[in-house]
Amino acid sequence: MKHQPTEPASAGNGASGVSAPRIGAVLLSVALLVIVASAIRFGGSDAADRNSEVPVVVVPAPSPPVSEYDTLGPGETLGELLAANGMSAPNSHALTEVVRAYRNPRSLRAGLVARFTVETGGEPGRIVLQLNPDSLLDLVAEDSSWTGVVYEVPVSLDTVILAGLIESSLWFADLSGEVWKLGEDEFSEYVFDLADVFAWKIDFTRDIRSGDAFRVAIERERRPDGSLRSRRFLAIELRNRDRALQAIPYARPGGRREYFDTDAEALRGVFLRYPVPFRITSGFSSRRYHPVLKRNRAHLGIDYGAPHGTPVKATAAGTVVRAGTWSSFGRIVEIRHVKSFSTRYAHLSSIARGVTVGAFVQQGQVIGRVGSSGLASGSHLHYEFLQGGRHRNPATVDLPSAERLEEEYLESFRIERDEALSLLDAVPLPVPSPDAAAEPAVAD
Ligand SMILES: [Zn+2]
Repeated sequence: MKHQPTEPASAGNGASGVSAPRIGAVLLSVALLVIVASAIRFGGSDAADRNSEVPVVVVPAPSPPVSEYDTLGPGETLGELLAANGMSAPNSHALTEVVRAYRNPRSLRAGLVARFTVETGGEPGRIVLQLNPDSLLDLVAEDSSWTGVVYEVPVSLDTVILAGLIESSLWFADLSGEVWKLGEDEFSEYVFDLADVFAWKIDFTRDIRSGDAFRVAIERERRPDGSLRSRRFLAIELRNRDRALQAIPYARPGGRREYFDTDAEALRGVFLRYPVPFRITSGFSSRRYHPVLKRNRAHLGIDYGAPHGTPVKATAAGTVVRAGTWSSFGRIVEIRHVKSFSTRYAHLSSIARGVTVGAFVQQGQVIGRVGSSGLASGSHLHYEFLQGGRHRNPATVDLPSAERLEEEYLESFRIERDEALSLLDAVPLPVPSPDAAAEPAVAD
């Protein structure tokens, strides 16, 4: 069902029509609103909030409806918000059931803005919930039952093809291609994304050289005001010194989008499951303070019983953020990886040369040796795995896996790959001028 907002009645208005800017404004508001969810039932009462535009009434009449805004507070339920705005329990319950058809009321976040429109002396007769920056849920009461309609900002889909020649860093690449399509500061967002896509292959702070170049095809969802609702890469090609890297997104049926190279190898690296090839002597336990034993039983890592001096390998590439002694951990190395993962290796007998704060270590690189420094009963490695600062069980955590795409998807992948790569042909991969080549962009 398509919603056509109607012009407010121009009762008593002798003029032959509304002025041009006014029409423009109405057309714009029509353009901005597209119904994406069909109305369960939609009354004509959307004119209610236009009553401010009717001519002045000079005889006693009911007060016009009043609209007020309220915001869902932290921990506040929709029911509590409704009650706070004068809704009776049965009315609130009926409304919540209608909301449920669109959104789980419990999933509504603090900060959600609601507009309540109240007729004099009554309960709210219309409520508009701003579900997110791009959609409104408009709820209208009619004969004590509620109907809802979702309005969404329409987005337009487009593609941007860019190429860049790197002189000092990705941030200051010399861009070519459809540069005019970019909004202010838009490219810097893609830099983060680009670095992320290749994070398992390239350390952008160290490996990028002057003369490196890239091409990228980006698909964008844009709002009428030009702002971006979403963006995603369709294809990326990166020349880093003398190697060429490609990234093609592909999603297995029902799966998430992942990036693969042209040979269908996942770009994303894998965490090694074990930093040392020895048996687990103490597992992960997140149990908190034990009231009977009166001590903390939590063990936020895994212990590997390994002989003194056993080499300890970094389970993934990353930057060393701690290397030294730290309380009961003894000698410890902590590495920060991409995606807010980090790992800790404790009770070491020694830390490998070059493994200092700020150093970048490769996956599998020996970062130290097993020992019993700190509070350790015997020689073992205490290994911790954190995601976003929270301890996870390294034995069970769902680690990003790097693997070749399964045979069954190869054909569809190749079709998507060839289509995506052909987009890049719209712009040439920049070539550095001969005298500028091969100079390190960043000092090691
Ligand atoms: Zn331990």
